Amino acid sequence: MVINYSRDFDVKCQLDTCKTYPVITDSERGEIFCGGCGLVLVQNMADTSYESNGYTQEEYMRLTRTGPATSLTMHDKGLSTVIGTNKDSAGNSLPNKTKYEFNRLRTWDQRSKSRKTSALSKAFTLLHGMKTKLGIPDNVVENAAYIYRKTVNAKLTRGRTMGSLVSAALYAACRENNIPRTLDDIACAGNVERRILSRDLRTIIKKLGLNLNQYDTASFISKISNNMNLREKTKRDAFDILKKCEDKGITAGKHPVAQAAASLYIACILNGEKISQKKFSNESGVSDVTIRNRAVLIKKTLKIVDKEN
Ligand SMILES: [Zn+2]
Repeated sequence: MVINYSRDFDVKCQLDTCKTYPVITDSERGEIFCGGCGLVLVQNMADTSYESNGYTQEEYMRLTRTGPATSLTMHDKGLSTVIGTNKDSAGNSLPNKTKYEFNRLRTWDQRSKSRKTSALSKAFTLLHGMKTKLGIPDNVVENAAYIYRKTVNAKLTRGRTMGSLVSAALYAACRENNIPRTLDDIACAGNVERRILSRDLRTIIKKLGLNLNQYDTASFISKISNNMNLREKTKRDAFDILKKCEDKGITAGKHPVAQAAASLYIACILNGEKISQKKFSNESGVSDVTIRNRAVLIKKTLKIVDKEN
């Protein structure tokens, strides 16, 4: 069956022999079809190509064909129905009978919105709040909204709170896009318990078959050092230490945030910046014992001798 275009779902050919073939998008015809057998899976796609943008405001308004781009972070993707005021196009009031008809239309428009829609709109309000608190880019939020929509479609909402599911979707999106945010950051911004968040995250990863890559430790070094206002030289040295650790093979399977914090801690000592392990622990959310153990291992492996020890 050919379905009309919707960004809600991943489409895939159902034939076993086509599993390995990608789907091909033909934006000219507005179709998505199977790369194996050529079956048309989706038709009447929205045209997502650029608007022809003129050089002046006037020109832009003249050439433009549509409104703003659709966004998954709005419950109706920004395509809401607006039934305007009681004025006609010339600005005169409508006759009473027509006014009444429009009021009825508005009422039915309201009532026809399903409960799912209102739940989505609440979830995305929360997502926007978290986006602001954590300073997360738009494309990642869009990705989070996509993951959240998939969890709703997979009926994973039962028995879980909306807050923790939204948080889990956001964390997964951050991991996919390598935006360094820890589970604690997100649990705090979403006002959910860390334990619940990591439980729901595991469920999402398993049920949706997400494939999240490990965080890049270097991005955490930048994040922590920026937050603590460390010197550029210290940061560079921390990158150096990390690089050497990777060469020695002692970073594999280790917590990236702890590794970043320990590298920075050692770089601080080497550069004479006096900052306690406790402070690093507060900033990175990793316990000071972990940082200490990590730092000892790094020093031993790289044969770094400092004055304190
Ligand atoms: Zn096929």
